[in-house]
Amino acid sequence: MFRFIVMSTTSTSSATAPASSQTDVARLVDANKVFGEGESAVKAVDNVTIGFRRGQFTAVMGPSGSGKSTLMYCQSGLDRLTSGKAYVGDVDVSTLSDQELSVMRRSKLGFIFQSFHLVPALSARENITLPVDLDGKDVDEDFLAELADVLAISNRLDNRPSQLSGGQRQRVAVARAMIARPDVIFADEPTGALDSKTSGELLKYLREAVNSLNQTIVMVTHDAVAASYCDRVVYLQDGVLVGEAANPSVDDVLDKIKELS
Ligand code: ADP
Ligand code: MG
Repeated sequence: MFRFIVMSTTSTSSATAPASSQTDVARLVDANKVFGEGESAVKAVDNVTIGFRRGQFTAVMGPSGSGKSTLMYCQSGLDRLTSGKAYVGDVDVSTLSDQELSVMRRSKLGFIFQSFHLVPALSARENITLPVDLDGKDVDEDFLAELADVLAISNRLDNRPSQLSGGQRQRVAVARAMIARPDVIFADEPTGALDSKTSGELLKYLREAVNSLNQTIVMVTHDAVAASYCDRVVYLQDGVLVGEAANPSVDDVLDKIKELS
């Protein structure tokens, strides 16, 4: 699907490798996140150590409120841990100032959210190039054209988000997440607002980005079908990492979810 080939095309999927800076693009070490204090304190992430390997597509699953989004936000520097370490590459994000964090997010990470988070006043093209523009870099026009082609939005680039369907908006968000060739894409329920057909198409694009570009993707989802596109699924319950599996099938995931809830 993607004709441009960058770096290696190998897709590997050993789910048991320990977290280490050698192999992991991002990792959490003894990560804790507590909201509130005293009696009302909530431990949203409870002593989690986990690594995300280059070229691996990981689903983070668990019941509502199990800490999936919080784990993703702390890993990606959108939020800060209460204790422990969150590395992107070899950088401990807790040592960065807010300004350094936003530069790192723009240049090294891509984000996709359930509600798209596009800027309404900008065209699709301007939304896509925003991270690169903010970084003061030149847009790789060939890469933009290729992304737009693959994501089937070439003829919508001059439209604003309000003029696009939900599936088109999310594909614009995927292009925006990919344009700076990030080390990791973090997606929080990216298919949550899409119907099942549109959702399947989006997951195929993400899978293809992993296969063709060796893209690393961490995707929070509670959808077993979405998880089945991944190389690896990890399960959270009450903030605790309670299991993981390689190359999950829909049935495997449904069984595990039943067990957890
Ligand atoms: P999930 O994404 O798995 O649904 P979250 O990470 O959103 O779970 O939330 C995990 C827990 O942390 C929940 O109990 C939630 O209520 C709590 N929580 C999340 N964000 C905040 C916040 N900003 N302030 C207080 N509690 C929060
Ligand atoms: Mg969530």
